[in-house]
Amino acid sequence: MAAMAITTEQVTDALRVVIDPELHKDIVELGMVRSIDFFDEGVRVDVVVSLTTAGCPIRSHFEDSVAKAVGALDGVRQVNVGFDVLSPEEKQGLQERLGRKGGLPEGSLARVKNVICVGSGKGGVGKSTLTANLTAALHAEGKRAAAMDADVWGYSIPRMLGIHGKPSVSADRKILPLIAQGGIPVISIEFFLAEEDRAIVWRGPMLHKAIRQFLEDVDWGELDYLLIDLPPGTGDVSMTLAQLLPQAQFLLVTTPQPAAQKVARRSAEMARQFNLGVLGVIENMSGYTTPSGERVTIFGEGGGEQLAEELDVPLLGKIPLEEDLRIGADTGRPLVLENPDSPAAQAIFHAARGVIAATPEGYALAPVEEELVPAVTGTALPMAS
Ligand code: ADP
Repeated sequence: MAAMAITTEQVTDALRVVIDPELHKDIVELGMVRSIDFFDEGVRVDVVVSLTTAGCPIRSHFEDSVAKAVGALDGVRQVNVGFDVLSPEEKQGLQERLGRKGGLPEGSLARVKNVICVGSGKGGVGKSTLTANLTAALHAEGKRAAAMDADVWGYSIPRMLGIHGKPSVSADRKILPLIAQGGIPVISIEFFLAEEDRAIVWRGPMLHKAIRQFLEDVDWGELDYLLIDLPPGTGDVSMTLAQLLPQAQFLLVTTPQPAAQKVARRSAEMARQFNLGVLGVIENMSGYTTPSGERVTIFGEGGGEQLAEELDVPLLGKIPLEEDLRIGADTGRPLVLENPDSPAAQAIFHAARGVIAATPEGYALAPVEEELVPAVTGTALPMAS
């Protein structure tokens, strides 16, 4: 009996067998069913499907599958399938439903397990020195770790890891990082600037583009950790990164002065605002031991503990002042590799192990899990005759 009019719910249910062969989910769940309309008392059904791009090569697959699925419903004689394109906001929503919250296209950083943004409230606290040495320490601990220098004004990672030059481009047009001592891949804005351009003032849109390119066009390969040296404070770069890498985590570097915590807290607040997790705090310049063995707390005491407690995150390390750490940074020979037994190097190794403990396998940027569904199930349905 065709008198019982068919409902939108019935059609929607029927459409759940139409699977997007690339995204491995059905078009209802993906929010790709734009409209369902009935004509001639439900004998004719018009379905509009929204595609990710107008020239979507799997369009005819959707056309056939939708026609079959809806055509199989009782009483339906004719199915018209139309198409339109998802708006940018809808595409973003689709990404979110797929668990890829960020704006990055599929594949970028897919093989990077953890992205850690190293930030500080202000400059000069040793953020870059620690990024360089932590990356080297993680490497020495057997992890695949790379450093990306996003400190666009004070790019010091190349100097600290002793690597300068121009990256080459691979056959598939990806930028290849330069490899520093110990096999550490490094990318810095310095590698892309001619000597005369170094005084350049980077502004919002330009920065956004450069950072995006670092993330999308660099072939990082398989990594356990990508450490990103942020510019001090909160600004355009941090904002861009937080948007592009919603699963990245913050690591905050601070000095022992309790009075300076207000500055560090500001970065932490930004991390919260952008919904990034704070992995922990590292206190740097935590006292100095004189040649006669006396410990002097030049920059005060307790700042790291205080900030960690306030943010309810672990204090991953307290790195003492040590001249060799500075010399190593100036000469491109990270202390953790040059003299791993020195007190500062030991403290950095301790922090690196803390980072490892706080980032269980696949914690951050694990690729989207594929579901066990047949690629095309539309054909399994009998055609309505
Ligand atoms: P930031 O990246 O926060 O601006 P840097 O890493 O450039 O800071 O550090 C500023 C200076 O202090 C550098 O010369 C660096 O080598 C030195 N430095 C940083 N931490 C220590 C430390 N624990 N002991 C000695 N020198 C340090």
